[in-house]
Amino acid sequence: MEIQSVGVVGAGQMGNGIAQVCAMAGLSVVLTDVSSKALEKAQATIVNSLARLVKKGQLSDPDAVLSRIVFSNEMADLAAVDIAIEAATERLEIKIDILRQLSALVRPEAIIASNTSSISLTVLAAQVSQPQRAIGMHFMNPVPVMKLVEGIRGLETSDETFDTVAAVSEKMGKVFVRANDVPGFAVNRILMPMINEAVYALYEGVASVKDIDQAMKLGTNQPMGPLELAGFIGLDTCLAIMEVLHDGLGDTKYRPCP
Ligand code: NAD
Repeated sequence: MEIQSVGVVGAGQMGNGIAQVCAMAGLSVVLTDVSSKALEKAQATIVNSLARLVKKGQLSDPDAVLSRIVFSNEMADLAAVDIAIEAATERLEIKIDILRQLSALVRPEAIIASNTSSISLTVLAAQVSQPQRAIGMHFMNPVPVMKLVEGIRGLETSDETFDTVAAVSEKMGKVFVRANDVPGFAVNRILMPMINEAVYALYEGVASVKDIDQAMKLGTNQPMGPLELAGFIGLDTCLAIMEVLHDGLGDTKYRPCP
């Protein structure tokens, strides 16, 4: 199947970025959220982001991109999409509810993806009527800038689903990397313990916020210090991911900093 239309559930910092890169790749997009405020903010963020790309000479027709995105409060508007990407808050009960609704709503051959940072794809796929069409599609933040999409297979994800999602990710200009369904997958299994350790270093008085970030930027050639990155990701999301690592791997080394 070649993907031509995309539905995105959750118009927060990830959802609006995903909608933007999909529309820039020529796909038609429906972006939904339960919050009208989030949708308004998403639209403003996309308009500003497209204007920046025009200024840099990387985009000529922002109106054409914007015209491919429908902003809606109704998840029902996703009924005809080829792929639905869930990008709502990182809480298991919210994602389970959305995936069950999507499963009943979209066509049986449509792919159902989740942008979860850490939650088991097998658990999420089990909410979908044909779990072979469910997959993890983990974009990085900010989506228009970051090149990676981490693809995660649930136990029953089919090769066809995986290949279709790899192809549409590449159409968006992304590099698709495969990871297995273990808590945190590859990126957050490695990144979040580092961020958590930076929070512990602060908590134990090893160094100040400024010095921890400066040391890691200059000492390990990272573009942003781990504490600044944590704020950028969202501390609620960072804590939710550490709790998934701690519970799922059962090892005290993943204990979130108090
Ligand atoms: P966010 O808080 O900016 O946005 C979440 C949005 O989901 C909000 O607008 C909220 O109104 C909406 N929402 C909540 N319940 C909903 C529902 N039932 N139906 C529709 N919309 C609903 O969060 P975010 O940073 O965009 O994170 C979204 C997802 O992306 C999470 O799973 C997160 O783990 C993942 N993610 C985040 C990052 C990051 O750096 N922040 C990176 C990769 C993946």
